[in-house]
Amino acid sequence: MSDARRDEIAGNLAVVRARIDAACAAAGRDPAGVTLIAVTKTYPASDVEHLAALGVTDVGENRDQEAAPKAAAVTAPVRWHYIGQLQRNKARSVARYADVVHSVDSERLAEALATAAARQRDTPIEALVQVNLDGEAHRGGAVDDDVERVADAIAARPELTLRGVMAVAPQDWEPAAAFARLAAVAARVRAAHPGAELVSAGMSGDLEAAIAHGATHVRVGGALLGLRAPLR
Ligand SMILES: *Cc1c(COP(=O)(O)O)cnc(C)c1O
Repeated sequence: MSDARRDEIAGNLAVVRARIDAACAAAGRDPAGVTLIAVTKTYPASDVEHLAALGVTDVGENRDQEAAPKAAAVTAPVRWHYIGQLQRNKARSVARYADVVHSVDSERLAEALATAAARQRDTPIEALVQVNLDGEAHRGGAVDDDVERVADAIAARPELTLRGVMAVAPQDWEPAAAFARLAAVAARVRAAHPGAELVSAGMSGDLEAAIAHGATHVRVGGALLGLRAPLR
């Protein structure tokens, strides 16, 4: 393990923590209410070990093909968050290592994940409903009333625990407008399911706006780990 790499990540982490603290101060929120998820896609398992040594124990991945071997390779005790689009035929694999799945966006996927969890786990998978904020079909996420239907489907299965909602701000939207809309959806879900308190929102470029609108989990990749995917 290279100390230089750990120092680099530690420096980036200090900047990200300062941004989270400043955003919480501006919003009158306690920073303890915002969990930092380090998004380690395209980065090696050794970076996950560095992050864990630096106290970041929530880790996010968006592709099963990459996440499954990485989760098997990492020995530090971290919580794996699956944040990418999920095909039903990958539910079985993801259920082996994911503690939290942020991207449940259909009743059929909730069913597949619950069935996979029933076969191979003792503990429920924590699940969030991914919300599609602009209704663009090519993006992941449930639209409008489907959000509540997916939430109900998750809540109906003991192998899953409904924890809240997740979204990615559409690129052509003001982040603040996107996260305000997500906050309204989150409140609706919470009205039916009081335990569904998590709001997963905000990335390297827009975490301040997400925290201003109630994010409990921010998912940060580039600002912690540097530019992604240099070709070698
Ligand atoms: C990659 C990714 C992130 C992190 O994005 P950065 O801009 O690198 O911080 C967050 N959420 C999802 C769903 C992602 O795929």
